[in-house]
Amino acid sequence: MKFAVQCVRGKGARLGTLTDLGCHSNLTLETPMCMLYTRGGSAPYLGIDVLQRVQGTPAVVHMPLNMLAQFQEVIAGFQAGMGKFSALGNQLLYASSHDPASETKSGKNDKHSIGVWGRGGKVQLDPEGFVKLQEAVQPDWFQSMADGDTDQSSTSKRCKKAVDRTLFFLDETLDRWKKSEKLQKSCMFGSIVGGFDARERKRCTLETVARNLDGYVIEGFHHYGPSTETFDLHGIADLIQSIMCHLPEDKPRVMHAVWRPDAVLQAVQLGVDIFDSSYPLGLALVLDYNYNTPLDERPTQRETTGPTIDLNEKRFVDDFSPLLAECTCYTCKNYSRAYVNHLLNTGELLGRILLIMHNFEQYFGFFASIRHAMAENKFEQLQQLVNEQTGTT
Ligand SMILES: [Zn+2]
Repeated sequence: MKFAVQCVRGKGARLGTLTDLGCHSNLTLETPMCMLYTRGGSAPYLGIDVLQRVQGTPAVVHMPLNMLAQFQEVIAGFQAGMGKFSALGNQLLYASSHDPASETKSGKNDKHSIGVWGRGGKVQLDPEGFVKLQEAVQPDWFQSMADGDTDQSSTSKRCKKAVDRTLFFLDETLDRWKKSEKLQKSCMFGSIVGGFDARERKRCTLETVARNLDGYVIEGFHHYGPSTETFDLHGIADLIQSIMCHLPEDKPRVMHAVWRPDAVLQAVQLGVDIFDSSYPLGLALVLDYNYNTPLDERPTQRETTGPTIDLNEKRFVDDFSPLLAECTCYTCKNYSRAYVNHLLNTGELLGRILLIMHNFEQYFGFFASIRHAMAENKFEQLQQLVNEQTGTT
């Protein structure tokens, strides 16, 4: 994998390209980007034929390992990896350790293993078991084992333990990964942990960088899940910058569960390149990210309460407008807010399908607009437009 920074905007926002991607050597990816969030090998509610109607679907499929760990024997028995098993073999596959859309339970890790939670309970993975699971899944990229079970309340002692364990897991995994025939073309991204302790974060960063991995995943600030939506990146900007300054320029950086558009832009400004798309599963996205549209030509429909609306609400019962004015997605071309409200309130599966088709297209379009804004040197213009809608200062 090769990563090149094309330009840097503002304090550290990077417009970059990823090339030479293992089995997908003819593919070029532009960053900042998000990956296609999946559970068990499928985008939530969307089969492949429906997914094909969503414009701008990312080339990288994100599969959280916790959803697959219980089915390791079956996936390993198939022998050709999760990409082919789920008929997503033409796309790049990235495996994270946890599902950013689900809150991880605390106390699951010990000094020998990490705990991952799927539908049927906890699966404990030691370095040998972790590499065997990766061999079954056969991802193009995967996140290294980490003890990211820390948050703002974690003590310095707990943060030190998290770093000690993560570095131990990394060293135990490295040799097995390099010797594995099935993972010859798989890249490993090192996990940077250490909670809110700047000293431990620095130690973890320097030690992980010394192992010369393909990219980095920054985690250990929270426990994922819906509460992450209100997580404030402002408070940890200095901490993230102190990590970024030690990471090599020519390696991509991933952060999971950075959800709200204003938070994404802030993380981009701090130097994060790759995000997941587990955010737009709930409320309808109505964000206007067309930064080039003059003020007097912007849709009057724009919401002032934030980047989302709850289509379950009564006020949409007779709102026959599309989910978002000027959206060209399948849902907005064919259906109204009122009809989606009706489907959601009658519990019809189609309601979730139409909602996620719209949300995915909007979220993927938002990332394309970040790249365009950076190329045109209008990143601050986009940030101002988004912050106006999210009430961010
Ligand atoms: Zn739409």
